[in-house]
Amino acid sequence: MKFEVPYTDFPSQFRQSGEETLEAVERVLAAGNFILGEEVEAFEKEFAEFCGTKAAVGVANGTDALMLALKALGVGPGDEVITAPNSFIATAGAVVQVGARPVFVDVRADQNIDPGRIDVAITPRTRAILPVHLNGRCADMAAILEVANRRGVPVIEDAAQAVGSSLDGQRAGSFGLAGCFSLHPLKNVNAVGDAGIITTNDEDLARRLRLFRNHGLRSRDESEVWGVNSRLDALQAAVLRVRLRRFPEVVEARRRNAACYRSALSSVVECPVERPQEHNTYHLFVIQCDGRDELKASLASQGVDTRVHYPIPIHLQRCCRGLGYRPGDFPAAERQAGRILSLPVHQFLTRAQVEKVCAEVGAFYAAERASARR
Ligand SMILES: *Cc1c(COP(=O)(O)O)cnc(C)c1O
Repeated sequence: MKFEVPYTDFPSQFRQSGEETLEAVERVLAAGNFILGEEVEAFEKEFAEFCGTKAAVGVANGTDALMLALKALGVGPGDEVITAPNSFIATAGAVVQVGARPVFVDVRADQNIDPGRIDVAITPRTRAILPVHLNGRCADMAAILEVANRRGVPVIEDAAQAVGSSLDGQRAGSFGLAGCFSLHPLKNVNAVGDAGIITTNDEDLARRLRLFRNHGLRSRDESEVWGVNSRLDALQAAVLRVRLRRFPEVVEARRRNAACYRSALSSVVECPVERPQEHNTYHLFVIQCDGRDELKASLASQGVDTRVHYPIPIHLQRCCRGLGYRPGDFPAAERQAGRILSLPVHQFLTRAQVEKVCAEVGAFYAAERASARR
């Protein structure tokens, strides 16, 4: 189905920067160096600089970024990692992958993890706190770091959705011991396949991450520790360098769209919060609303494509059954799962398209009110 207001627009991205992208691809093909190497090192350096961290380590995807950061911290069987139940499944999946147990705590009305509940959930087995910058909006890092520092537990940020977002001028990925990013095609700085990266200010952690992502290899022939194959490839890195350079334009357009939604829709539905100290790059623009499924269907019938991130909280997924959670354990996350809707916010939307979305949302609730009166 072709939507008048599509949720994504990759063809436009290619039209806009196709020439530079093809040049980058050609450079890699001509050099013939396809795994790690110069392109990856250059991208790592540029990405670290962008986030304001000392180092960045490119890996195969965002899930591996989380898994490798946990592994490099020594998190394993018998350990607990505190995280949010309203994320993409990969957040908890990475914890399970290193053999540890995800311990969920509920979120606040603004969808981000509740630092007060983290404090209460810490046990002698807690080895890390894994907040998610959901929808691209930074979690309450000041409060989370206060708890973490007081209790002596390291923080790893799931910054998969939050490239470039900041709090008081400090960018996502630079708050905790490590920041884990996905560069999946659907994320804001996007590869043309799977890719991920880990940021850190800890040079020794960066060194361990470089070992773990490539079989523990210290040199061509010497393995220091057991690692995995989670290398970033040069083609992805070359394309990502082009897209990171163009990222400021992306942010500007997404923020413009978000501002437009906020001014038109704040009186109709609950819009994402953005406090003065926050700068959100709007990976997603998620409203909370009554009659979500009906609104989604109505928008689709008017040519507006929307998504739900995510309709089933992680603790209620089938794969989570062994962990013993039940419906009702996290009332805020569960309630929000039935009320959230992601409106298209990508950088290629025209003003007219954004206004159409606003008008259709407004029309839906006006019709609802009229039928309630009848
Ligand atoms: C996308 C995403 C991931 C996983 O990234 P992949 O690159 O798909 O492995 C992890 N956490 C969150 C919050 C995400 O949105």
